[in-house]
Amino acid sequence: MSDVKIVLPESEIPRQWYNIMADLPAPPKPPLHPATKQPLQPQDLAPLFPMALIEQEASGQRWVDIPEEILNIYRLWRPTPLYRARRLEEALGTPAKIYFKYEGVSPAGSHKPNTAVVQAYYNKREGVRRLSTETGAGQWGSALSLACRLFGLECTVYMVKISYQQKPYRRSLMQVWGAEVIASPSDRTEAGRRILAENPDSLGSLGIAISEAVEDAATHDDTKYALGSVLNHVLLHQTVIGLEAKKQLALVGDYPDVVIGCHGGGSNFGGLAFPFVADRIAGRDVRAVAVEPAACPSLTRGPAAYDFGDTAQMTPLLYMNTLGHRFMPPGIHAGGLRYHGAAPLVSHAYELGLIEAKAYPQRSVFQAALQFARTEGLLPAPESAHAVRAAIDEALAAKEEGKPRTILFGLSGHGHFDLAAYDAYLSGQLEDYELPDEIIQRALAELPRV
Ligand SMILES: *Cc1c(COP(=O)(O)O)cnc(C)c1O
Repeated sequence: MSDVKIVLPESEIPRQWYNIMADLPAPPKPPLHPATKQPLQPQDLAPLFPMALIEQEASGQRWVDIPEEILNIYRLWRPTPLYRARRLEEALGTPAKIYFKYEGVSPAGSHKPNTAVVQAYYNKREGVRRLSTETGAGQWGSALSLACRLFGLECTVYMVKISYQQKPYRRSLMQVWGAEVIASPSDRTEAGRRILAENPDSLGSLGIAISEAVEDAATHDDTKYALGSVLNHVLLHQTVIGLEAKKQLALVGDYPDVVIGCHGGGSNFGGLAFPFVADRIAGRDVRAVAVEPAACPSLTRGPAAYDFGDTAQMTPLLYMNTLGHRFMPPGIHAGGLRYHGAAPLVSHAYELGLIEAKAYPQRSVFQAALQFARTEGLLPAPESAHAVRAAIDEALAAKEEGKPRTILFGLSGHGHFDLAAYDAYLSGQLEDYELPDEIIQRALAELPRV
């Protein structure tokens, strides 16, 4: 019987990231300046990002070298294992082969450090002293806290207030790595003060926290901003996931019929799928499926349009599938993945028909997570469980057809900090939520006119 874990030696960590921009049959629409609505110039981003990342953001170069310093940091947890989920296959009685790439082995427990350490590295190299960022549930905040610690930078994290109150352990983790964690909205920034004046009890949102972190960076010379998803350079760094997975599958002589990733802002999905989408563009028969929550369905129900990345309308306008920058996902939703927009590169690939998208209500997602945990042992992050759900459904479809198929999905993180959500599911308190069309239409009415 072949191995359950397919592991690579450290010498096989990819030495270059893959940039899908070079292979897209048509270029995506450029980001626009929020005030002039003209295409963004590199210097417009200089207050927020170091030049190296601004260049990567606009780069059309197919392969980008991974600096030696980053390879050395990657070795702390990479290459990550690829698993064959034999026990799950057996439980499902499917003729399909199910592989999953597990990013939960990183110190922060998710794929996010793959880009956090790169962003910290380039900022450090360009003389930046402090990074500011936002975090929802805390995964990105903890990844960046770790990265700043590894490169000797200070780190300020604006954490959505409801999560700050409900998820104290991720806050502790950030503080262990030395970050300053601030509940958002806060009185530290103009954006935060404005929200608090309107509503002193505001529990915050990712959009508000982004506004605060961006303002903090823009108003301090020694500080820059870091974003954990959505942007081209973030997806570029995450392709290390898919490139490793390809090597691992090649070791066992396999190649997927379908590649599945959960989708919040698009970074773990893009990172896993884009190296395979490259083959699809070259004519190979491989599908890629992005899986999002039915409560925050940016790809499946949001139109492609220019929109802001944040509530206070400070970020550049990105052309993406969006539910509108004022969209607030329902509070009862426990499944993460709450950002209003999809990465421009993912949106563009979707528009070109290179990828598919699918949305699931949360109870079916947690049901899949439990089936996975009870067969494979690992407890998926609620975000990752969306991919588990879709992978199980692919395997059941193969069973129905009585035909084999090879499924690869991304297990983007573990759920050890998400047990409150599992508690809610196990005690029957988790509800599915039909997102009414009116709510989407109301948020879309506030899209900027371009
Ligand atoms: C943040 C996060 C996601 C969603 O972000 P993407 O940019 O869409 O990948 C998914 N899974 C885990 C474990 C996360 O921490």
